[in-house]
Amino acid sequence: MINNNYVKTVYKNIQAKYPYEKEFLQAVLEVLETLEPVVENDAQIEKLGILERIVEPERMITFRVSWVDDNGKVQVNTGYRCQFNSAIGPYKGGLRFHPTVNASVIKFLGFEQTFKNSLTGLSMGGGKGGSDFDPKGKSDMEIMRFCQSFMTELYRHIGQFTDVPAGDIGVGKREVGYLYGQYKRISNEFTGVLTGKALEFGGSLGRTEATGYGLCYFTQKMLETLKGTNFNDKKVIVSGSGNVAIYAAQKAKELGAKIIAMSDSCGYIYDKNGIDLQLIKNIKEVKRERIKEYLKKYPNAIYVDNCRDIWSIPCDIALPCATQNELDENSAKLLVKNGCIAVAEGANMPSTPKAIQIFIDNDIAYAPGKASNAGGVAVSGLEMSQNSLRLSWSFDQVDQKLKEIMENLFDRVYKTSQKYSDGKNLVIGANIAGFEKVCEAMKIQGIAY
Ligand code: NDP
Repeated sequence: MINNNYVKTVYKNIQAKYPYEKEFLQAVLEVLETLEPVVENDAQIEKLGILERIVEPERMITFRVSWVDDNGKVQVNTGYRCQFNSAIGPYKGGLRFHPTVNASVIKFLGFEQTFKNSLTGLSMGGGKGGSDFDPKGKSDMEIMRFCQSFMTELYRHIGQFTDVPAGDIGVGKREVGYLYGQYKRISNEFTGVLTGKALEFGGSLGRTEATGYGLCYFTQKMLETLKGTNFNDKKVIVSGSGNVAIYAAQKAKELGAKIIAMSDSCGYIYDKNGIDLQLIKNIKEVKRERIKEYLKKYPNAIYVDNCRDIWSIPCDIALPCATQNELDENSAKLLVKNGCIAVAEGANMPSTPKAIQIFIDNDIAYAPGKASNAGGVAVSGLEMSQNSLRLSWSFDQVDQKLKEIMENLFDRVYKTSQKYSDGKNLVIGANIAGFEKVCEAMKIQGIAY
């Protein structure tokens, strides 16, 4: 609910302009609702049109991506790059290849990224991109041809000081490798224009683990501060079994938790003895198979053919690490009923607005993704620093910096939420702390965009 007239008008206008962009509108509303006290204390924000500007991308690039499949047939997909906000640094944010990708999804992710990158304390603006291309079931050569065609357009819009894309759903080391190869060929330069690269050509140790590990560093601090406890001996559910999920599960386990369930887009596995993570890695990272294969080695585990039901299993901590809006109102009620004490988001916007309200109303410690999953982009920032310095830091050096960044990030979010509310609502803290730096930079730079 928005009360302030200026904020209300900004939201109504964006709603009228983009009525079909439901994910984008959801993300904008969630941020605007929490910015009211800041807007009321600073008349400059309205005078300088900061909110109108912050909800409109600086540039939205849409392009055709034609490529040839293994049968010699031409296929066509749509490519996007949303350069959302460059007030505090070059645009930075991942590329997503998934059939559900459209302008709304890319804009919501770019908008969220602006605040997330600001929260890391590093100098990175917000951006996001991708395509409705589905890598699932494609051969390596098809993926290479798609990536080459995608980069043949994208290359003219990016650069190490302009816009530095990375991976996201459906874009891992393999795709980043093909994209980088094509960028290098067209531009004839070897620069840190992408992050999430393989170690052989400028990648950073610790980048693969960063989002999942960072999520757990943040969550550990949140549990200590808000609940007087930690991961030790807790039963944890992690949704998804991709990059974020696997390394979140690994770090939570290292911190003493038992991971009892994980999922993919087809269903979930429940293993009350604790999930065998090595096996999950083998199934998902090496063989690229369905999570159901887990049963072949552990026939006593349970497989359920519906990934959304994963939240019906009783747990202490829930880590949604799959995709947007995967945890709805009903799932939130089940988590409350089953005694869950904390929900921390590894994915972007995995909880629906109603689910979030239920967490807050029931005193569940809730970490919004734009704060708790910032570890990935933070280490991408560290990868950019290493590329510029022509140096490689050790895994421990990167991991130590990541831990410091996530703990400082928690402190900033927590202090801001104490300033503007009771300290427990970290959504308010994350949105306001992320907004303040971008807002100040926009004021100082004049009406640049
Ligand atoms: P991956 O492509 O590596 O993995 C996504 C995982 O989620 C897969 O296991 C996929 O299953 C599963 N999945 C997809 N849809 C559903 C669903 N509806 N229910 C259950 N599982 C589902 O992506 P990432 O791990 O990189 O990204 C996951 C989330 O984290 C995204 O929201 C992303 O934006 C966010 N994120 C990622 C960062 C990163 O560094 N990678 C950084 C910050 C945020 P299947 O195998 O069947 O496809």
